[in-house]
Amino acid sequence: MSDSNFKWDGVILRCIDARTSDAVQVALQELNLHHCDVISVAGSVKNIVEESLYLLSQVEISHRLHSPAVIVLFAHEDCGAYGGSQTYGKDPVREQKAHEQELLHAAKVIHSRFPDMKIVKVYLCLSGEVHFID
Ligand SMILES: [Zn+2]
Repeated sequence: MSDSNFKWDGVILRCIDARTSDAVQVALQELNLHHCDVISVAGSVKNIVEESLYLLSQVEISHRLHSPAVIVLFAHEDCGAYGGSQTYGKDPVREQKAHEQELLHAAKVIHSRFPDMKIVKVYLCLSGEVHFID
C-alpha cells in the first residue's frame, strides 16, 4: 500500500461558492465527519446530472484511494452555475425543490456506481441553514 492509500471518513462534493463554506462545516460536524476528501466544482452535482464523467472520475479516485464510507452531496441557494435564485423566480421553496431533484438524481447515479457508500444529500441556504434531504 502506498502512502496515498488510507481511509478517510468521507468524501464531499460541493460547489466552489465560498458563501457556503461555513454551512458545509456545520453539516460535516453534525454528520461527525472530520476527515474528508473534497471535490469542489461550480454547481456541485450539476456535472453528474448532465452525465459528464469528470466528477464521477474524482469520486472513483477518492473511493479507490481512501475508502470513504460516506459521500455528502451539497447543493445550495443562489448557485451561479444554475443561474442563481432568479432561475426559480426568486421563490425559495421552488428553488430548494429543484435542487433536491438534482441531488436525488445525482445520488441515484452515484449509488449505481458506488453501492457501498452511504449517500447524504444536503441543501444549504445562504443564511447558513442546513437542510438534510431524505
Ligand atoms: Zn454554486
